[in-house]
Amino acid sequence: MVNSPAGLHEAVARGIERGGNVVIVTGAGISIASGLRTYRGDGGLWTEEGSTAMARATAAFFFRKPEKSWAWHLARRTEVHRASPNDAHHAVADLEKRLGERMTLVTQNIDRLHLRAGNTPERTIEVHGHVDGMRCSAGCDGVVPIPCEFDDWIDGDDIGDEHRELLVCPKCGFVTRPHLLWFDEFYDEKHFRMRSAERAAAHASLCITVGTSGGVPLATRLAGIAAKARAVLIDINPHDNALRHLACDSGGTFVDGPADDVLPVVGEIVDSFERSAGDPGEHPSNKSVDRRSPWLHV
Ligand SMILES: [Zn+2]
Repeated sequence: MVNSPAGLHEAVARGIERGGNVVIVTGAGISIASGLRTYRGDGGLWTEEGSTAMARATAAFFFRKPEKSWAWHLARRTEVHRASPNDAHHAVADLEKRLGERMTLVTQNIDRLHLRAGNTPERTIEVHGHVDGMRCSAGCDGVVPIPCEFDDWIDGDDIGDEHRELLVCPKCGFVTRPHLLWFDEFYDEKHFRMRSAERAAAHASLCITVGTSGGVPLATRLAGIAAKARAVLIDINPHDNALRHLACDSGGTFVDGPADDVLPVVGEIVDSFERSAGDPGEHPSNKSVDRRSPWLHV
């Protein structure tokens, strides 16, 4: 199946018109234009550093070597802080401004670029946690910010006594851990709002997956729940993947282009649809399609 601007236009309009939630699920691909590496694709963190990087991103590694785990996390955090939101992040933030409580953003990314672009914490579910939080490794409730003393940490910096004092739970004094979902852990509601994400998908009339390989089962699960609720699925990804097929099989569509090109176009379609609500002459389905779009493949 080939995609087309007309197909995208029609699918977005159909999903919005049904009046349910708009759920956007984003993965590492949305941050590529910000200079951040993906995890699983060519040149990805897990692909390039292989088993070493994946083994470090585990609770087992943390409890064996908490200082090494922290040092590795803090260096990755610095890489993220040096990146800026790109056009795709800004387009998603604009969509939330336009749609308000109708929209739920579920991001697999820990980079916080969505929030820095303007999405609100209330409407953003960070299902893998985020780089700036830490919590008690003994299980006390609450996520607290990582102290600013750790900003600009780079590979090779070592955890010293002055750092150890800062990485403690304010309630019990036990060592803290990064607020992340590691490979040997499970999604839950308490830390990662998993049930909330599933609920949003179950009430969706439009579900857009962006830059996720489908290698993370969560995206496939949420898209599957949305499809069951008869939402229109749209997959945005320059690479073929399982979510693209799920979208097409359920009557939705896909766009094989980069997120920073495509999402602003989605924003324009939503804008034109919302503006023309109540004015049939201006209904977006009556408008011609801009065929200069860079991702046109027909
Ligand atoms: Zn504690």
